[in-house]
Amino acid sequence: MADTRKPKPAVTRIGNHELSPATLMMGHGYDPVLSEGSLKAPIFLTSTFAFPSAADGKRFFEGITGKRPGGTDGLVYSRFNGPNQQILEGRLALWDGAEEALVFSSGMSAIATLFLAHCNQGDVIVHSGPLYAATEGFIAKTLSRFGVGYVDFPAGATRAEIEAKLEEGQALAAKQGGKVAMLYLESPANPTNALVDVEAVAAARDALCPSAPIAIDNTFLGPLWQQPIRQGADIVVYSLTKYVGGHSDLVAGGLSGARKWMDPIRMLRNTMGTIADPNTAWMLMRSLETVELRMSRAGENAAKVCAWLKDHPKVEGLGYLGMIVDPRQQDIYNRHCTGAGSTFSLFIKGGEAESFRFLDALQIAKLAVSLGGTETLASHPASMTHLSVPDERKAALGITDNLVRISIGIEAADDLIADFEQALEAV
Ligand SMILES: *Cc1c(COP(=O)(O)O)cnc(C)c1O
Repeated sequence: MADTRKPKPAVTRIGNHELSPATLMMGHGYDPVLSEGSLKAPIFLTSTFAFPSAADGKRFFEGITGKRPGGTDGLVYSRFNGPNQQILEGRLALWDGAEEALVFSSGMSAIATLFLAHCNQGDVIVHSGPLYAATEGFIAKTLSRFGVGYVDFPAGATRAEIEAKLEEGQALAAKQGGKVAMLYLESPANPTNALVDVEAVAAARDALCPSAPIAIDNTFLGPLWQQPIRQGADIVVYSLTKYVGGHSDLVAGGLSGARKWMDPIRMLRNTMGTIADPNTAWMLMRSLETVELRMSRAGENAAKVCAWLKDHPKVEGLGYLGMIVDPRQQDIYNRHCTGAGSTFSLFIKGGEAESFRFLDALQIAKLAVSLGGTETLASHPASMTHLSVPDERKAALGITDNLVRISIGIEAADDLIADFEQALEAV
């Protein structure tokens, strides 16, 4: 049987015509000839790989251990890599125009591996706020135990405000004997949908600490509606559990960026085993074939649903990127985003009781946290995802008792509107 381990160089253009990621998702990086003609990649369930020769084994290990940069050119052991993960990583990188991508067992294992690979004792992370609660907790409660400090600035901060925070971070790092190791962003932020000005962050970074990478959690708008490498980010972070997986049936994470940033992360992933398993990688390849279709439909649905909700007498307001009120936020949106997404905040007139009545009355939308799936989900951040956030911080972030978080799926928009209409009647 032919060697399954080296797919042929992939076709990414026809003549001068660049193929779009949507097209490449169907076959990029996989050659059926290498797997008995199987049109789709098999799932490679194995813990270890046989080497063609002892010299090959040595060469592969030089890549694994970092003796040679850029990773291994052969398969060794499934804690390090596997065919399904490699094909998936090649496809994921295309969406962000990244040199490389790495996939992980969850969004959080990707984020934890990212920080541990790039931060040393005494270093400081300068981050936008709010972040996904577990990310904020990992920085504040876990990394702090190893002497890594942090400084945060509000999403929406201007270049001058970001530079002031970077200087604060540098002062703290100098005191601790470290450096500003990373600028970590999340945009739009959950659950406020506040956008971070990545271009302003990049300008501030270039002026004050040019060697620190900018990483950004792109889970809410990526990979379709926002590609932050274009605005100056270095590392793009995903919970692939959300829009990319897209069917609420798997948990996985991803990091994309230049090889020089990915190399130390891959080495640590090799050590810790935070890689996604072959079955999950296979499911993500299937998901990527429809990611543009699914996200486009969900985005169109959200626009229709929000247009209907906007003027409803029981609705106080919407936190939807298609209806931004703040001019600075609109300016960031225009420079960074190509679509408003399908996850938004709905403010019901009233408080917790009214919000709960609405949620309990929904018949199509499911009452669950998470987002980006084919089905519409609704939840109550103040009493669920953000329950442990202190009241003052909740108030500062605008997480009120009448805030209902909605992730619109790919159902028929009219059916969703009918569902919201009857649920609002129950309020
Ligand atoms: C869900 C989520 C995460 C965490 O991802 P998991 O796959 O659940 O580990 C990180 N960031 C954002 C913005 C998320 O929505």
